[in-house]
Amino acid sequence: MTALPDRFGRPLRNLRLSVTDRCNLRCQYCMPEEEYVWLPKSDVLTFEEILRLVDVFTSLGVDEVRVTGGEPLLRQGLPALVRELAARPALRDLAITTNGVLLREHAQALKDAGMKRVTVSLDTLDRETFRLLSRRDDLPRVLDGIEAARQAGFAGRKLDTVVIAGVNDGELPALVDFARGVGAEIRFIEYMDVGGATRWRLDRVVSRAQMLDRLQRACGPIRAVPRADSAPAERFELGDGTTFGIIASVTQPFCATCDRARLTADGTWFTCLYAATGADLRRLVRGGVDDATLRTAIAATWQARSDRGAEVRAGLPDRAPLAAAATLRQQPHLEMHTRGG
Ligand code: SAM
Ligand code: SF4
Ligand code: SF4
Repeated sequence: MTALPDRFGRPLRNLRLSVTDRCNLRCQYCMPEEEYVWLPKSDVLTFEEILRLVDVFTSLGVDEVRVTGGEPLLRQGLPALVRELAARPALRDLAITTNGVLLREHAQALKDAGMKRVTVSLDTLDRETFRLLSRRDDLPRVLDGIEAARQAGFAGRKLDTVVIAGVNDGELPALVDFARGVGAEIRFIEYMDVGGATRWRLDRVVSRAQMLDRLQRACGPIRAVPRADSAPAERFELGDGTTFGIIASVTQPFCATCDRARLTADGTWFTCLYAATGADLRRLVRGGVDDATLRTAIAATWQARSDRGAEVRAGLPDRAPLAAAATLRQQPHLEMHTRGG
């Protein structure tokens, strides 16, 4: 399949599919507010509508789908959707990002349905820090969920950690050890000023350089692993062969190779995590247009794409959160938990 280039020649390859905007955690860096405006239930795409759109996207070159949310395991009947996605030969990769709270209940069903890879978000190994960070006392369930993914036979398991100064930046070596112990690869993510991160401050970002410095002091020499793809994580290796990743979205944005787009649970399609607006594909799908029309609309949007949100933000003199809480209440599509991260 010849990939569809955007204005900078970046192909459309990777679709992040948010299946719900609801979540059972309230991570400080994503959902710090008390109240949220949810997408109307009637706007949420059915599995049939999602699959129709996925088929149009794959016809344009998408070959990787990552199921996300909100918390994707809150979506009723998710394995049925996964089974259908897994049956699409055009999809080379099918993965899910979850907070892990419900993974014990769902890991085997996901595996049986054909899910290929699981990434679990794990920010801390300390129960009290977890509780303060997510406003729920669910660390034991997350750890058990990680074990459930292993037992279900998922290979290539990953753990994602958003690193925040003064919160969990003292835990990097312990998290690397933990990941090694459970046979997963951990990736440390710089704290981003995305929609929803209303408490973001530049001085709470722990840079890639600072992370490497801390890890080097605790774990010894670190070697960069040569890159083999356009994935956002840079990979590194410790002396004992343990590998880990860093996603330096704030200090070293990777917009130049970004082949990702995001479809929200209500069918709004964003070509950048920071984009102010998205394309309303639900209106087209429910308006009765044929697949050729959908395809033309999606192709035209991608071909006109010139987004490089993180690079633009890196150049701002006084960087502050993307949107205030009041703006997010007016425009919930700006929220990270709606866009799928
Ligand atoms: N609820 C699921 C989870 O947490 O894994 C999936 C959705 S969540 C929005 C997807 C990813 O976005 C998570 O790994 C989360 O850590 C990341 N994320 C959310 N807010 C972030 C921020 N301000 N900076 C960096 N990553 C963030
Ligand atoms: Fe945390 Fe993911 Fe929920 Fe955001 S969507 S609050 S990152 S668990
Ligand atoms: Fe891609 Fe936008 Fe993220 Fe840059 S900021 S890597 S263009 S999604």
